[in-house]
Amino acid sequence: MDLKSKIREIDNFPKEGISFKDITTLLKDGEAFKYAIDKIVDDLKDKNVDIIVGPEARGFLMGTPVAYALKAGFVPVRKPGKLPGETSKYEYDLEYGTDCLEIHKDAILKGQRVAIVDDLLATGGTIEATAKLIESLGGEVVAIEFLIELEFLNGKERLRDYHVNSLIKY
Ligand code: 5GP
Repeated sequence: MDLKSKIREIDNFPKEGISFKDITTLLKDGEAFKYAIDKIVDDLKDKNVDIIVGPEARGFLMGTPVAYALKAGFVPVRKPGKLPGETSKYEYDLEYGTDCLEIHKDAILKGQRVAIVDDLLATGGTIEATAKLIESLGGEVVAIEFLIELEFLNGKERLRDYHVNSLIKY
């Protein structure tokens, strides 16, 4: 299946000069959505994954069906102030300013095998922060899966210590 043809590109969103990759057109196509999830599941099926971690918000959409298919647990990583229990936080630099992500402190046990699933790899900042949160709890990041990779931003270089797989490349 040509998954790329299911992605809608929207120019100048959310800012002038950005060509946003809109995944909602893929998600609403049942055949394409199942195909994409099955591909990710296929890459993870021999990795003994205990937990799928998905960052807010599109990581929830891609990550939960993968967790269900693998009979793995799902753990959300969220923007500050959204998770009700005790959290670990990780602050990271953006082009202008900083951002912060949180995970429940008891969400991952020492030694658990964790795969991260998100919609898109750009600079890799979000996923590097997510991996650091998982590792701070003692989890092992065994794979990172993306629907889309923006190769020209070189995010993969930042994630070079990990197994990284992406289905659609720009
Ligand atoms: P990074 O941290 O790798 O620079 O940015 C990746 C994050 O930004 C992902 O969580 C992703 O959801 C979001 N993102 C950035 N650009 C796009 C885009 O063009 N399309 C979509 N769907 N998400 C994007």
